[in-house]
Amino acid sequence: MIHHEPSLTRTQLRKRVDEEKSGWLARAQALTDASIQARKFVGTGSKKKDGVWSEIKRVFMSLQGHKCAYCEKRMPERGKGRDGDRLEGKDKNEYDIEHYRPKNAVKAWPSRAIIKERGITYADEIRRGADGGYYLLGHDPRNYVASCKTCNSAYKGNYFPIAGQAARDEPDPKRLRKTEQPLLPLPFGSWGEDPTSFIRFLGPLPIPRFKTGHRHLRAAVTIDFFELDTRADLLFLRSMMILLLWEQLENAVSGTPAKKATAATFLAALSKTTSPHTACTLAFASLHATEHATADSLRSACHAYVASADPSVFGAWG
Ligand SMILES: [Zn+2]
Repeated sequence: MIHHEPSLTRTQLRKRVDEEKSGWLARAQALTDASIQARKFVGTGSKKKDGVWSEIKRVFMSLQGHKCAYCEKRMPERGKGRDGDRLEGKDKNEYDIEHYRPKNAVKAWPSRAIIKERGITYADEIRRGADGGYYLLGHDPRNYVASCKTCNSAYKGNYFPIAGQAARDEPDPKRLRKTEQPLLPLPFGSWGEDPTSFIRFLGPLPIPRFKTGHRHLRAAVTIDFFELDTRADLLFLRSMMILLLWEQLENAVSGTPAKKATAATFLAALSKTTSPHTACTLAFASLHATEHATADSLRSACHAYVASADPSVFGAWG
């Protein structure tokens, strides 16, 4: 779960869009006007140019610290590091601009197969987003978020599970948030929320922060929807980061002055918004400080997972 940008306003977002691509907002408004007339999403009419939102992809890559909004995987960034400048024009390839609310037909989630596979018990509480899609938001940057191709293509697609009432003709994402009670995360401004307010991490595992209520449901849906607790690549990376982190956390407490200094530099780097899986690593650093024995048991489980790739090593924690 990436860092939330609560102070981002609509005006600031539009300014960033305009700086990235002058004239984009006017073109988007014309397409929105056409969509209002047609009462359905209207694109550019050209397959080549239909990804008009791709032109402002970098705004979201930058806002998100170059991480996927859903799985917190780190992705390319131009102009940084030894080869960064060579990424000019190539940096965007691993990102998709995703329409948070689908611009066309919305599919129902979860399917029977997913309910069975994931052991979902809350399916009766889930509603489908607006029938026919959110045609008013197809060209609204407040409806955009950057994600990795796996999270977008293999998981997000045209789904939009909600707990409230769908409102297809409402153009204001802030009002929609109240009416619809969306269940997937959106990390920007007053039209989104901080994902860490409903999901926390225990070692490499994301878990609901609350046991009941809307925030519990939202966390459970987000974790099940993107399979954030079972994807092997995510579990492996988070486990590796915890193993690296453990050594530095121990050194920070009882190392030599030189090791303490190295640990401080490492921990500062890990806390940056551009560092991958910060929701996991920062939670583990906090656990290390407050419940050392629990942190040590989780470290041991991470070690076993990296060695075996067997997720059952986390059985006691999930
Ligand atoms: Zn992702």
